[in-house]
Amino acid sequence: MINQISILLVEDEVVISNFISTILCSNDYNVIKAESGKDAISLLTSKCPDLILLDLGLPDMDGVEVLKMIRAWNDTPIIVVSARDNEREKVEALDLGADDYITKPFGTDELLARIRTALRYNNFNKSDNIDANDFTLGELNINFSKRIIKLKDKEIHLTPIEYKIITLLAKNVGKVLTQEYIIKEIWGPFKNESQALRVNMANIRRKIETNPAEPVYIITEIGVGYRMVDEIEQII
Ligand code: CA
Repeated sequence: MINQISILLVEDEVVISNFISTILCSNDYNVIKAESGKDAISLLTSKCPDLILLDLGLPDMDGVEVLKMIRAWNDTPIIVVSARDNEREKVEALDLGADDYITKPFGTDELLARIRTALRYNNFNKSDNIDANDFTLGELNINFSKRIIKLKDKEIHLTPIEYKIITLLAKNVGKVLTQEYIIKEIWGPFKNESQALRVNMANIRRKIETNPAEPVYIITEIGVGYRMVDEIEQII
């Protein structure tokens, strides 16, 4: 196939590597496999993939080190594949420039959605003519130039900080944003406003979610941050 998107799959466990590779190939991606950090870096240079799926537990070096080395000279989108319950590792990877992460074990849909989002952002960054004025997700609509947010066609009123938070998440729809990143963007780098962020997020959810305890628009990535979802599966 011409113009197939190629993905560098860095994974040392053969069973997992084959499983992921089968999913990717059947969705028309071209897969380049690497089993170590060293292989990954050499294949990145020789094959120029469109995206990298990077397992953090590699035999020859720490996946985080591989990430650092890559980010020193290369901005190919990277999705980190992380073990469960290692929030610190996920945050570290995101801070070092990973675009997203996925936690083992993951489902096919989740993997493909993360890949689509990461590829889309990469294209965004390279194009100057994004129509970023109007955003619609489920029954939520944001008009950035008029600064109007509507839910089911009814305008909802947010404080300036709530507005900043929701638009930051909307402009990064599908991507996880770390707490630290959101705080830095909203309040600046010199404050620790994690309590304020929690309070504001609760207020936003009260205003946009049918059931704030089970949010569908903005989900919490426990120990990491928040993500505005790509697609609303169902509106109750
Ligand atoms: Ca591994």
